[in-house]
Amino acid sequence: METIDRDLLEDLRRVAEVRLNEPIARHTTFGIGGPADVYVIAQNADELRRLVALCNRSQTPFFILGAGSNVLVSDKGIRGVTIENRARGLDGPMDNLNGSAVFRAESGASIAALARYLCRKGFAGLEWAGGIPGTIGGAVVYNAGAYDGSMATVLKSVQMVSKDGLQYELAVEELGLAYRESAFTRKLFEGHVILSADLVLQPADPDELAQRLVELDSNRQASQPRGRSAGSIFKNTREYPAWWLIDQVGLRGHRHRDAEISTKHPNFILNVGRATAMDVMALIELARERVEEEFSVKLLPEVAFVGEDLQ
Ligand SMILES: Cc1cc2nc3c(=O)[nH]c(=O)nc-3n(C[C@H](O)[C@H](O)[C@H](O)COP(=O)(O)OP(=O)(O)OC[C@H]3O[C@@H](n4cnc5c(N)ncnc54)[C@H](O)[C@@H]3O)c2cc1C
Repeated sequence: METIDRDLLEDLRRVAEVRLNEPIARHTTFGIGGPADVYVIAQNADELRRLVALCNRSQTPFFILGAGSNVLVSDKGIRGVTIENRARGLDGPMDNLNGSAVFRAESGASIAALARYLCRKGFAGLEWAGGIPGTIGGAVVYNAGAYDGSMATVLKSVQMVSKDGLQYELAVEELGLAYRESAFTRKLFEGHVILSADLVLQPADPDELAQRLVELDSNRQASQPRGRSAGSIFKNTREYPAWWLIDQVGLRGHRHRDAEISTKHPNFILNVGRATAMDVMALIELARERVEEEFSVKLLPEVAFVGEDLQ
């Protein structure tokens, strides 16, 4: 473990639970990732805000981990401080805009659990997210989406913490949301963190929403593999879906040690045993090379590469 300022460690411990050398593999959907030097668990938005302020004040690099469902973390782990976001509070309906309802969800809330809860309560707008295993924060950063819905279609604003620990609000228009990217992925908010998000939903019939969830669940089950993965590895290109390109170059089912390009959906890579980040990277590089050779198309990753020697 790299030296972390003792005073910072003490300060972090005063706010939240701190673990040293925590294996990140336990906290990613891939089941991959080496040790985090310092691993802190924020249980609510106020703890998250204070932890971020402490790291920024001491100029210590930090990484926010949501559900770990869109990251490939280095086998060497993450230096500095990793903050797991378990801030899961929900407020609402708070407000009415033209008959619609506004809910404020803390950024560590599970987007799938929230989508299902809102359907049960008779609020439409987040059904598309019923099978996405991330947090609200991760969903904003990647403008998560499925089945014609995305965060951009439901998000009103986010509450942020700045580098100096101050809280402020940004309207959705200021977040630069586009297909699986945002001002966050473009590194325009380094050191700032999403504390919560305001979502706008429409009143609807809970039975119809439940039916819609069943349809979307069965679509997902029919098209996506079970098992440890980070969902889609690459973004679709303008012309072709990434899975089709990978299939065309003959890589469906291709394996490198315990990492496997899914036979069911070739844009998923599965950890079928004890795959390492390097094993997954080998498949990623292979797919990129073959697709570029045969189609002159550059596949861009949808997943984030995190940690030592992988960024
Ligand atoms: C089986 C499976 C299916 C999936 N299906 C879909 C799908 O249909 N559509 C889709 O869009 N995605 C899908 N994904 C990908 C993933 O679930 C989404 O990208 C999700 O939004 C990531 O959220 P997370 O909390 O897991 O983020 P993480 O992977 O934990 O983090 C991702 C990035 O966001 C940053 N981040 C997280 N929280 C915050 C915050 N509060 N403030 C600032 N930065 C933050 C992290 O630092 C990191 O850089 C799927 C993944 C899996 C495993």
